[in-house]
Amino acid sequence: MSPTILLTADTIAARVHELGREISERHRGESVVLVAVLKGSFVFAADLARAIDDSVTVEVEFMSVRSYGDSTETSGVVQITSDLTRSIEGKRVILVEDIVDTGLTMAYLLENLRTRGPASLELASLLHKPARARTPVHIDYLGFTIDDVFVVGYGLDHAQRLRNLPYLGVLEES
Ligand code: 5GP
Repeated sequence: MSPTILLTADTIAARVHELGREISERHRGESVVLVAVLKGSFVFAADLARAIDDSVTVEVEFMSVRSYGDSTETSGVVQITSDLTRSIEGKRVILVEDIVDTGLTMAYLLENLRTRGPASLELASLLHKPARARTPVHIDYLGFTIDDVFVVGYGLDHAQRLRNLPYLGVLEES
């Protein structure tokens, strides 16, 4: 079972640089807190942070979530297993996610973070699978829209493996 390349490392890098430029333009002269949702977004967040130029002051925070459901379908019941270490009250926050699939995880997390009183709250997601959407989620900075396929690599796993692939691939069952 080896992945078929969906998006090459070069294609991803070019798009992440564009997203970094968009964030830099929108937040010039401001401070932002990037909140990376572990584990899947760790590679994207690391590249995105470095694609934001020094006209923006960048802080980085991490959260871990676990979503209940079977292995392919989330239930929308989300547990925060590791929370922010600092308050985001009054701060400009950009949540950084690997993929918005049904949207249930992000809908929960955005609502949760909103109650903490940030000055602004935006979402950057590397991938979006609109075919599986169960709740609308506004993505401010979107990398790529993809079909309903299971992707791995560039931080995304299959049973905790394959996160280290430098590209995004599709797992073909064989
Ligand atoms: P949602 O609540 O939007 O359905 O769930 C999003 C989460 O499901 C993502 O953060 C990711 O952990 C997982 N997920 C959804 N689609 C994929 C996929 O194609 N590949 C991998 N590796 N994880 C996925």
